[in-house]
Amino acid sequence: MKIDILTVGPVQTNCYIVYNEGNSRALVIDPGDEGKKIREALGDKQPAAVLLTHGHFDHTGGLDAFSDTPIYIHPADDVMLMDAVWSAGSAFGDESPRPAATDYVQEGQKLRLADLDITVMHVPGHTLGSVAYQIGDALFTGDTLFCRGYGRTDLPGGSMEDLVRSVRRLLKLEKNWMILPGHGDPSTLDAERKYYQ
Ligand SMILES: [Zn+2]
Repeated sequence: MKIDILTVGPVQTNCYIVYNEGNSRALVIDPGDEGKKIREALGDKQPAAVLLTHGHFDHTGGLDAFSDTPIYIHPADDVMLMDAVWSAGSAFGDESPRPAATDYVQEGQKLRLADLDITVMHVPGHTLGSVAYQIGDALFTGDTLFCRGYGRTDLPGGSMEDLVRSVRRLLKLEKNWMILPGHGDPSTLDAERKYYQ
C-alpha cells in the first residue's frame, strides 16, 4: 500500500491519497482544499471514493473537484456539508457551498474500495461524527489524534468528555499502527502511548 501526502489550504490540512501500487484506483482522504491540485496528484488514477474523517470546512474545501466520486461521511457530520456555521467555515471566512455526501459510514463498518480493506471507527469529541479509518497498518485519525496532541473541542458539536474517551480508545488498540492525522506530522500508536504515559 502506498500513501501520498499533500498538505493543502490555509490551515495546512493533510490530504492522503491511498492506493495499491499498480492499481488504477485510489482513495482520497480529506480533500481539504486545492481540489485541482489533488486531482493532478492522482495522475492517471481514478478516485474510487473520498473518505471524510469529519465535516469541518478545512477537510472538505476541495470536494468540488470530486463531484464524480462517491463521498463518505458519518451521518452526524453531514450537516457540516450544508451549514457553514456547523462546519466552522463561517468562523474562518469560508462559506462556499460543499457538494452533498453520497454515502454514510458508521462504527464498525467494513468497506472494500480500490482493492483496499477499510475499517471505520466512530470517534466523537472533536465533532459529533468524527471517524478514524484503518487501512492496513495505517490509521487516519483526522483531528481526533495528532502527533503529540489531540483535537480541539470548542467548535460546534465538540465534547472534551467524548474526545478523551475516543483518544483512549485509539491508544488502547493492540497494534502499533501508523497514525496519519489531519494536520501535522505522522506518528505511531506506540509513540503516542508513550507520550501519554
Ligand atoms: Zn476539524
